Amino acid sequence: MKIGIIGGSSISQIHGLEILDQIEMQTPFGYPSSAITHGLIEGVDVFFLQRHGDGHHIPPHQLNHRANIYAMKSLGVQILISLSAVGSFKKELAPGDVVVIDQFFDRTKGNIPQTFFEGDIVAHASFGSPVCNKLNTFLYNSIKILLERHNPNEVSVHKGGTYLNMEGPAFSTMAESQVYKSWGMSVIGMTNMPEAKLAREAQLPYQSLAFVTDYDSWHVTSMNVSVEIIFKTLTQNAQFASDIIRFTLPRLAKTDFKCPGCEDAMRFAIVTKPEKISTETRQKLHLLLPKHLQQE
Ligand SMILES: [Zn+2]
Repeated sequence: MKIGIIGGSSISQIHGLEILDQIEMQTPFGYPSSAITHGLIEGVDVFFLQRHGDGHHIPPHQLNHRANIYAMKSLGVQILISLSAVGSFKKELAPGDVVVIDQFFDRTKGNIPQTFFEGDIVAHASFGSPVCNKLNTFLYNSIKILLERHNPNEVSVHKGGTYLNMEGPAFSTMAESQVYKSWGMSVIGMTNMPEAKLAREAQLPYQSLAFVTDYDSWHVTSMNVSVEIIFKTLTQNAQFASDIIRFTLPRLAKTDFKCPGCEDAMRFAIVTKPEKISTETRQKLHLLLPKHLQQE
């Protein structure tokens, strides 16, 4: 089984990953954020990408999510797990905790391409349920077992939550933060949109694990979100993320995980008449087209 992992702020490596190769790639959508590290965890093939590039040099609004997802797809990844640092809107989602996200609220501003399907092809992917629910349940249950066995920082795992995606790179004002909180949002980050949309279009079961670094600026004790405090918790969270990956991936591989819903997500999504889709588009999107459109 091949599992893709996209790591966010400070999650620059997976401890315990037996590294085999660094794969430099180019896709029809450009270059991914970094070379992709191919390695093994207890015999499971893992492909790890640093979302912000090696050394954290790409800001959220300049990420090439399409190249990142396309690269994972072309490597034959069957599942995609996204690791992100987030701010929390709820008291119970405390710094150090992990939220197994099940909804998104998109507040990006249109600067980042949102789809693979454009030019002479139109697709409307179903996105009401934007993560793989099967993967969501599996990861939540596994993390719970992990924390029952080993929980040095006394953190918690939360099943479900809404990730509000702001574009950044500056953090929220207090006014914005209070409005998002009043909307019932759980956490805030800058990267899962359109990553999750593109994973759906690529028919990859996708799950986002959101690691809480701090309370967003609504909270009275965090008048301004301090970068210093965030980075301290980030270090702890990076270790937690590695622990989760090392513990859950071999278990996941043993189940021979498959999700027909995600893997066939685009079958009815493409609305363009086949004869209107150019050869150039078919070639560019070959990996992503449903089977009935792959032949000319
Ligand atoms: Zn699924």
